[in-house]
Amino acid sequence: MDAESTSPAKPKVIIRACPNYDTFHIEGLVTEALDELGLRPSGKTLIKPNVVTSGEKFPNAYTRPEFIEGVTRALQSRADGVTEMAIGERSGITLPTRHAFKGAGYPDVFKRTGVDHYHFEETTQVEIPLTHEGRLRDSIYVPRPVAEADFFVNCPKFKAHPWTTVTFSMKNYIGIQDDRHRLIDHDHKLNDKVRDLQFVLQPQFIAIDAITAGEGRMLTPLPFDMGLVIMGNDQLAFDAVCCHIIGIDPMTVDHLRLAYEAGFGTLDLDQIEITGDVTLAEAQAKAEGFKVGLIRIEDYFEGTNIKAYSGKPPQTEGEGAEDYCWGGCPGAMQEAIEIIRLYDDQTDAKMPKTHIVFGDYQGEIDAGPDDRVVFIGDCTSFHGDIGGKPVEINSVYRDRSADDPLNAKQTDIFVKMAKVEKKFYDEKDDQVVELRGCPVSVAEQVLALVKLGDLNSPYLDPSEVKNFTPAYFSWRTQQAINKIRRIPYQQPGPTHRGGAATKLH
Ligand code: SF4
Repeated sequence: MDAESTSPAKPKVIIRACPNYDTFHIEGLVTEALDELGLRPSGKTLIKPNVVTSGEKFPNAYTRPEFIEGVTRALQSRADGVTEMAIGERSGITLPTRHAFKGAGYPDVFKRTGVDHYHFEETTQVEIPLTHEGRLRDSIYVPRPVAEADFFVNCPKFKAHPWTTVTFSMKNYIGIQDDRHRLIDHDHKLNDKVRDLQFVLQPQFIAIDAITAGEGRMLTPLPFDMGLVIMGNDQLAFDAVCCHIIGIDPMTVDHLRLAYEAGFGTLDLDQIEITGDVTLAEAQAKAEGFKVGLIRIEDYFEGTNIKAYSGKPPQTEGEGAEDYCWGGCPGAMQEAIEIIRLYDDQTDAKMPKTHIVFGDYQGEIDAGPDDRVVFIGDCTSFHGDIGGKPVEINSVYRDRSADDPLNAKQTDIFVKMAKVEKKFYDEKDDQVVELRGCPVSVAEQVLALVKLGDLNSPYLDPSEVKNFTPAYFSWRTQQAINKIRRIPYQQPGPTHRGGAATKLH
């Protein structure tokens, strides 16, 4: 054998033109890509879309059902020894995945293709030990279908992200954890968390919905007609090419840089084979002008009645120090205001003058005597005058590195509603309000803004309540059943990069 034939194949990324959401056209593109990559699904095959949220108000936030159906049909046509094929997800903003699947039109896909589906928050959670250098903690919990997948297919949506610049393939892993575990380290360490999740498993195949991409934000993105289906067999190389398509250096995207440093492959275009009927230059032309969402909170509210301030998050001395919590409360606030604007078109007109403070803020707060001032997050602190009176806000942040994820608790959306309702009722006459948590979730910040501005609540919108209520009770019932059904767990397959020992949760 000569040297050339023994060198490992380069990771491959295939860029195909796809002008619309024609399921059968998408199926054809994916079948050809699977052929080109020499892939045949086998064993337990799990497809992970991005359905962070869905429904009429969020048309560009999720992997479209036509796309997921095309991918599923292509996988079925090439199945070889598949014992199970399923679609699994944990949606965001504390809503049941059942609700998100319904809003995304997925139940019809399940019916037409006959595949199973998992709401990850309703399944047994499995502990995967981590041993790599620089890890945030020694183990991580994922749903059993993820831990047991033999053939894993990642099907993200091509979107910008206000916390991590972009959400392509690697970032889509945030939805492989239920809320209890997803919110652990979902703060200034979010990029490290996304890197750590990569050690759970790597996909054999990736197909991203870049037909109508999502610009600017991740829950409420603006549509950007890109007309592409991009596929590949190596997650880091795949994300690197997606970054180049929108003109971003992948080394500047922290979770990609961290995954690269952890040995997940290459970000170098010279080391990646790009094929397909669209060249990289042509894809870049299609994506020209695409905006990512990395805007600091102080700039985000310019021209509105909200003024935002931010200081450093905790533990920001020395190597790797951050001066802004990109993965936590400030970004959640950006998503929160955009969600509310969808449900109340008078949001900006109704909102009274309000000041919102994050982190260890050392400057002045320019609040009039009638302005509300809200300190958000466990780490927020401030010492100074507000409305002519001295105010002292101390950080209540505590280091979470030693917390055991096994004992992590989930906060129900109704509990969150009750908590925020009570806080703003009890403190209705107070100028200063502290909303604690790490992170304070998008849902809680939505609820807080609703109270501050007397706005229409998305959670009580008639269009949502109809689907939400049955989904909520089905989810809670399934969780109760899971508590009393201990399911034996088998060792992870070769897809997985974490340690082998696991235990039930
Ligand atoms: S409290 Fe919020 S801003 Fe502070 S570290 Fe936690 S997530 Fe970040």
